[in-house]
Amino acid sequence: MTAIDSDLVSTNPATGAEVGRFPVADPAAVATAVARAADAGRWWHALGYAQRRRRLLGWRALLAGRMTELAELLHAETGKPFAEGVVEVAAAIGDVDWAARHARRVLGPRRVRRVLPVAEASAHLEYRPYGVVGVIGPWNYPVLTPIGSIGYALAAGNAVVHKPSEWTPAVGQWLADSFARIVPEHPVLQVVHGGGETGTALCRAGVGKLSFTGSTATAKRVMASCAETLTPVVLEAGGNDAMIVDADADLAAAAGACVWGAFTNAGQTCVGIERAYVAAGVFDDFLARVADRAGRLTVGAGAGADLGPITLPSQVDVIREHIADALARGGRAVLGGPEAVQPPYVHPTILVDVPADARAVREETFGPTLVVTPVADMDEALRLANDSPYGLGGAVYGRRRAVPVARRMRAGMVSVNDVLAFAGMASLPWGGVGDSGFGRLRGDDGLREFGQATSIVVRRLPSLLPSRTFERTDRDVARIVKAYRLMFGRAPR
Ligand code: NDP
Repeated sequence: MTAIDSDLVSTNPATGAEVGRFPVADPAAVATAVARAADAGRWWHALGYAQRRRRLLGWRALLAGRMTELAELLHAETGKPFAEGVVEVAAAIGDVDWAARHARRVLGPRRVRRVLPVAEASAHLEYRPYGVVGVIGPWNYPVLTPIGSIGYALAAGNAVVHKPSEWTPAVGQWLADSFARIVPEHPVLQVVHGGGETGTALCRAGVGKLSFTGSTATAKRVMASCAETLTPVVLEAGGNDAMIVDADADLAAAAGACVWGAFTNAGQTCVGIERAYVAAGVFDDFLARVADRAGRLTVGAGAGADLGPITLPSQVDVIREHIADALARGGRAVLGGPEAVQPPYVHPTILVDVPADARAVREETFGPTLVVTPVADMDEALRLANDSPYGLGGAVYGRRRAVPVARRMRAGMVSVNDVLAFAGMASLPWGGVGDSGFGRLRGDDGLREFGQATSIVVRRLPSLLPSRTFERTDRDVARIVKAYRLMFGRAPR
């Protein structure tokens, strides 16, 4: 990516070939987009759930029909292998489908159980859209991560203004253009291009809610910008995920999953496995299997390679520093090492004997590196895995104790005897704790993230306990006291 005059020029990170050029939106252009979106959002909301569902399922069908075209664009703009692009688009299709089909159930008007002290009224709940939702996305999964917000925000009745990463504008534009083919009447999904300044302008443009996916450092800046106007945020930030392997795990399956979890998308995955904690009795066997499989992965620019280039040139320096720091602190590379860093590529690197305070253990490396550490038991595995400011995803391999161990991981999402399985599970909420952010995308919670709970209470009868009136008598007050003591005065034994 380079900036020429007021255009973003997107390039292939492996070859440097131009992928497309896009006008940068200044704050005035962002404000205009948000104003247009506000009008479009009113129209979109008025369509109702059934009409929105029909159109979103139409978009889903378009995405499915053109998924190889979109995967090729992903390959060209991020460098990720074509197959990884297909997998990413497939998960995004699942998101649009699920959001479209469940929005009315989760967000639509419904009667809620009333409470006894206000038995004279009926209770009603509905989730109203925010109007315009701003979506700021990263470059590593430029289809799946924004659609995790866009699909659900649209299904909830909002219009969306999306700012893709300046490294992946072509993919962002493709999403908006394809949606406009299904919904040509109004600009319900728009895209604004640019870097951090455009993102800041979107935060300040009066959107009803801002959904951000990216690094923890930028999440803090986004939250600060949104705080100026009390704009609510959902923040999906970085991760440093761990896999725990118990002594009774299926080692072949665990090793295969660990290799994919660590090296998919060349490690540029928020929920990629960066650390593995393995029961000491099976450590050597596990390590040998992981090193063998990872050593046979192919790296290159071709669509069929297992690992593509590092998309963001500056990330290569971070990966190099993390490997050097681990080795300087006594670590050993059983695969790769400093010579694995060959910009724009980094070959799979597996590190052992790395102390817990090394950068590769403490920080998000965001490259194809994996630190493998033996543990005495599952308590030690959990203590080390949970000793991180991040808490995004995780994985556990084992038989007897796997689910109890998963429930003790400090993470928003855990796969058991699988890896990154939650990425394809649109019915479950997505999000993390701590430095990984807050709020949830996907699932019922993800739909509710884009609707504002609105309560309506309808009086049906005169009050039995008239409290909300100046006409209440001393006798009424005495009845309220008596009733509340009767209903709530007894503590459970
Ligand atoms: P960044 O934080 O660098 O950028 C994310 C987005 O924010 C980009 O569109 C960026 O624009 C924009 N931006 C930058 N500065 C500002 C600002 N001041 N105000 C508003 N927006 C701004 O993240 P990356 O794109 O490098 O993505 C990688 C990170 O994303 C990793 O930490 C990864 O873990 C995380 N991630 C988290 C996921 C999750 O679900 N939790 C999923 C995927 C990734 P520009 O790129 O143009 O500078």
